[in-house]
Amino acid sequence: MLLFNSPQASYDFSLAGVSRTIRAMKLLLFDVDGTLLLTGGAGVRGMETAGVRCFGERFTLKNLTIAGGLDPLIYKEATALAGVDDPHLHHDRFRETYLRELKANLDLNPDKVHLLPGIEPLLRDLRGRADVVLGLVTGNYTAAIPIKFAAVGLDPAWFPIHAFGDEAPDRPALVRLAVDRYHARYGQAIGNHDVIVIGDTPNDIHCAHANGCACLAVATGLYSMEDLRAAGADVVVHDLADPQPLYDMIAR
Ligand SMILES: [Mg+2]
Repeated sequence: MLLFNSPQASYDFSLAGVSRTIRAMKLLLFDVDGTLLLTGGAGVRGMETAGVRCFGERFTLKNLTIAGGLDPLIYKEATALAGVDDPHLHHDRFRETYLRELKANLDLNPDKVHLLPGIEPLLRDLRGRADVVLGLVTGNYTAAIPIKFAAVGLDPAWFPIHAFGDEAPDRPALVRLAVDRYHARYGQAIGNHDVIVIGDTPNDIHCAHANGCACLAVATGLYSMEDLRAAGADVVVHDLADPQPLYDMIAR
């Protein structure tokens, strides 16, 4: 059964009837790797193995920035560095090989595949709230999400709004796609100032700010709190075990 949050404004009337606050709906767009979960390197290993299977040892991800990137762009960069001719002709085969290798690598080291601190209770709580809609904005291939989520017990249906790495040319465009999908799904627009991107890399911060959205950055990936502050995040937290900073952003 699919469980969806339905968007509805939250009305808070004061007892005296003197003041009234109407709080808008908030759309929360979560990144996946380094934000919701860690795969213990299964993603990168799976991609590298797939690349070597398809193109030989010349394929490597060693000199590329993977975190915060879009899977199809990582493929494009890696094949360019490897000198692959007509990489678009091989993309489907690479992706299918990667998805198989990803699953195999996740199964190999289940102890290293886990949700990050606080994520489980946070999602449980947010799913019960009427003033937020949950979404995903991630660089993963669409088909990689059910595989990664199954490995940590997350249900993709908990996130009715999503935009994946193979659905737009860059990360800021993924945020725009998610906002458009909110509109299409619920029949009402959401202002970009009511969208909060939650991610672990400077790319997450950039894609939020490029669209006038707020960003909560979480230092559970490769970047430190200092890095994320320097990259301009609106709020930076060590992890989401304490959800209060996010709740404060939702209440703004
Ligand atoms: Mg990430």
